[in-house]
Amino acid sequence: MNILFKGFKTELMPTPEQKGIILRTIGVCRFVYNLYIGVSRERHEQGEPFMSGMTFSVWLNNEYLPANSDKLWIKQVSSKAVKQAIMNAERAFKRFFDGKAGYPRFKKKGKSDPSMYFVRNGANCVIDCERHRIKIPTLGWVRLKEYGYLPTDGSIKSGTVSTRAGRFFVSVLAEIPDPEKQTPETDGIGVDLGIKALATVSDERVFANVNQTKEAQRLQKRLRREQRKLSRKYESLKKRNPKGEATRQNIQKQRLTVQRIYYRLDCIRTDFLNKTIAELVKTKPAYIAMEDLNVRGMMKNRHLAKAVSEQKFSEFRQKLTAKCAALGVELHIVDRFYPSSKTCHCCGRVKRGLKLSERVYSCECGYTADRDYNAALNLRDTERYKIA
Ligand SMILES: [Zn+2]
Repeated sequence: MNILFKGFKTELMPTPEQKGIILRTIGVCRFVYNLYIGVSRERHEQGEPFMSGMTFSVWLNNEYLPANSDKLWIKQVSSKAVKQAIMNAERAFKRFFDGKAGYPRFKKKGKSDPSMYFVRNGANCVIDCERHRIKIPTLGWVRLKEYGYLPTDGSIKSGTVSTRAGRFFVSVLAEIPDPEKQTPETDGIGVDLGIKALATVSDERVFANVNQTKEAQRLQKRLRREQRKLSRKYESLKKRNPKGEATRQNIQKQRLTVQRIYYRLDCIRTDFLNKTIAELVKTKPAYIAMEDLNVRGMMKNRHLAKAVSEQKFSEFRQKLTAKCAALGVELHIVDRFYPSSKTCHCCGRVKRGLKLSERVYSCECGYTADRDYNAALNLRDTERYKIA
């Protein structure tokens, strides 16, 4: 049987003591990550060869720490987390050498914090997890906010703890057996993604745009208001007002308020995405067909960028791919250049000048249908796809 790796992320409710350990560990990881980048930069400028993560680690323990006794706090946190921070920095360099990324940057406190890595202690050990808590090495049992989401069957191999907007999260990687391909119960379906509705399905189901619900609109309005407040505070700091320190604290507070609202909005969107995907696979279709959306290209259109990012198309595809793989449903990714919206599902004519504002597709052959529904039918039936 094949083994699949599956990731889960959920919120933690650590005790104040555990919060202290997490923040200290993340602080050390940030320091070591930045030290590695700093040292590598210097070596590069002096024409010395690149130092691997392993070599850096040995140097840190055998040369740097003995010479810098004020830095011994590095040894007071999980050595596995520190090691992982070093390996992450090494990976950033490798990506840079391969031309896949820019020169590695220093991690900034509160902005690009590393996360705290943990792993089971040996091949025969497990990371214990119960419905309401998870046992993380160096932290002990930590309470979970959402019950029953993480796997409790001993399949968790490793994970990371991170913080965002004053909250704490755990991401774990679990090994799950690859399911046998299921027997489909319904025909294949086509899914057209869009702004007006998130998803229009060829079986006539429509999943609305969650950003247009009352709750989301209310939060967005609040977000805009609080963001304006924040930028006004920045402005007043720039004018060197005499109460600079108070303003700085105020800014911190305001930033947290903005992050919190943003986080809530994000949760609403993610939640809706998860529900939509669950509904799509629930009927156990023979396959699901979706288009290979050019999200990057869409983001370049400034009229669309905001709406596109709010719909989380990339995340949708990622999650649908994972879900289909886990359930053994075939996922068709339809060729990007297949004109799913412009093609008449009835006679196959392609309407060249179809405008975005034309919500109803009507063809010379007499066929008319909702634009997105017509596209979903075409996606379902086209042969121009790759299997994800
Ligand atoms: Zn037609």
